[in-house]
Amino acid sequence: MKRLCVFCGSSHGNSPAFTAAARELGEAIAARGIELVYGGSHVGLMGVVADAALARGGKVIGVLPRFMADKELAHPKLTQLHLVETMHERKQLMAELAEGFVALPGGFGTIEEIFEAVTWAQLHLHEFPCGVLNVDGYYDSLVEFLRVSVAKGFVRQKQFESVIVASSVDEMFRRFATFKPEKSEKWILKGKI
Ligand code: AMP
Repeated sequence: MKRLCVFCGSSHGNSPAFTAAARELGEAIAARGIELVYGGSHVGLMGVVADAALARGGKVIGVLPRFMADKELAHPKLTQLHLVETMHERKQLMAELAEGFVALPGGFGTIEEIFEAVTWAQLHLHEFPCGVLNVDGYYDSLVEFLRVSVAKGFVRQKQFESVIVASSVDEMFRRFATFKPEKSEKWILKGKI
């Protein structure tokens, strides 16, 4: 894997475990020679993961909407910063650059971003692994909700299982390494939307 996209909170959350996990993930990405793609801001866990990768000599590519850069949210020390016009362009470019997607703990933005990546995998618009780093059980209730979605017939079991839920950074990388994309043809094929 050349580049990994990390989605995470623009806040730190209220447990030191979240910051520690963001730091560990950033360091692990750099240590593996993988480039980090992320939202380009210096705030919250976003800043922590970027700083950690940079401190380990890693390459960090930020993708930030111009209106956020205008509010001085841009990280000043990135290897590369792409300024785009809209949030949609941001996610599109992040998806084009990356070969895998991980969500650390975060809020609406993080959840929306990782579910979009999962949805695009379901539609075979990409074949890269998508995972959530379940730090301190932060995503337990979300995973439980997805089980309800399977039970109620809105999410197929195989697609649920294709979302990697890992409780440590090492487990995340191990499972990314053996990931095989779901080949079902139920959904629209690549390039059709
Ligand atoms: P969230 O998980 O809601 O904290 O949001 C994470 C995503 O939303 C990231 O892509 C952020 O760039 C963006 N975002 C939302 N609110 C802010 C904010 N106040 N400052 C910086 N980025 C934000």
